[in-house]
Amino acid sequence: MRLITILIPAYNEEAVLSALVERLKKVTSQIPGYRFEYLFVNDGSSDRTLEMLKGMSVFHPEISYINLSRNFGKEIAMLAGFDHVRGEAVIILDADLQDPPELIPQMIHYWEQGYDDVFARRKSRAGETWFKKWSSATYYKLLKKVSDVPVQSNTGDFRLLDRKCIEALNQMRETQRYTKAMFSWIGYNKKEILFDREPRAAGTTKWNYPKLFNLAVEGITASTIAPLRISSFLGMAVSFCAFLYMLFILVRTLLFNDSIPGYPSLMAVILFLGGIQLLSLGIIGEYLGKVFQETKGRPVYLVQEYYSRMNATPKKEN
Ligand code: UDP
Ligand code: MG
Repeated sequence: MRLITILIPAYNEEAVLSALVERLKKVTSQIPGYRFEYLFVNDGSSDRTLEMLKGMSVFHPEISYINLSRNFGKEIAMLAGFDHVRGEAVIILDADLQDPPELIPQMIHYWEQGYDDVFARRKSRAGETWFKKWSSATYYKLLKKVSDVPVQSNTGDFRLLDRKCIEALNQMRETQRYTKAMFSWIGYNKKEILFDREPRAAGTTKWNYPKLFNLAVEGITASTIAPLRISSFLGMAVSFCAFLYMLFILVRTLLFNDSIPGYPSLMAVILFLGGIQLLSLGIIGEYLGKVFQETKGRPVYLVQEYYSRMNATPKKEN
C-alpha cells in the first residue's frame, strides 16, 4: 500500500481538531490502495492543541506530530512538515476545515494520471468580508503583473504535491518564505481543480491585517526585484523633469529677466523629491533586510518533539 501524508499546520486549533480527524478518517478510509499519515505541525500553540494531538495519537496510529519550539508562522510550519513527510505525496490542508477533505480522492486521481501538483482553486469564499475579498483580488492582480513567475490567484496552500516537488521545496531554505510563489517557481506538471471555500468550522482566523500586509510585501519582494527597478526608473524620470524645469528657469531668467521669488515651487519640488527618496530607501531597505536575514544562516525552525508511528513505503527495487 502506498503512503500519502496529509500535512496540517495547526496554531491554536483545539476547537476543530477532533472534527477534523473524524472527517479525514471518513474520507481516507474510503480510498482503496493507500495508507494515510496525518502529519500535524503544532506551530507553538498556546492552547491545548498539543495535548489533544498527543491524546488522539493514542487511538489513531495515522497521527504524527511535530512540535515546533515556538510559533514560526504557517509558511515555516509547512517547511517543517515537508522535512518530515514520509509518504510518496503530500496533501497540505488547513486545520480549520476550510479546505474540504472530500477533494482528496479527486486530487489522488489526477496524481495517478501523472500530475505532480494538483492545486485547488476557490470558486467562492464564504464567511469572508467583502473587504478581504476585494483586497485579496486586487493584490493578486498586482502580484501577477510584477512577479517573475506566474502566481495562481484564488489558490491557497491546499494541494497535493508529488515527492519530487517536496524535495525541490526542501532545497529552498529561505527564512522569509512565500510558499505560494515557490509552488509556481518549482514548475512540474500542474493541474487545477475548483471548489467552494467554506467558512471556518470553529475558532478564529490567525491572520489579521498587519500580518496579511507583511505576507503581501513578502510575496512581492520574494518573487521579483521590479520595485528596485521602479525606484531607479522614478529617480530617472524625476531627474529628467527637474532638468527640463531647470532649463526653463534658466531661459526665463536670461531672456526675459523674469526672476520671481519661487518659494512655493521650491517647496513643492523639495517635498516631492524627499518623498521619492524616502520611498526608494524603503524599497532598498526591504531587500537589504532580506539579505541580512538570510546571511545569518540560522536554521529556519527548531523542533521540540517529533512523534510518528508510521513507516515509509519501502522503496521499490529495480
Ligand atoms: N497557522 C499556523 N501558524 C500561524 C498561523 C496559522 O500554523 O502562525 C495555521 C492555522 O492553524 C491553519 C492555517 O495555518 O491551519 C490557516 O490559518 P487560518 O485559518 O487562520 O488562515 P485563513 O484561513 O484565515 O487564511
Ligand atoms: Mg482558515
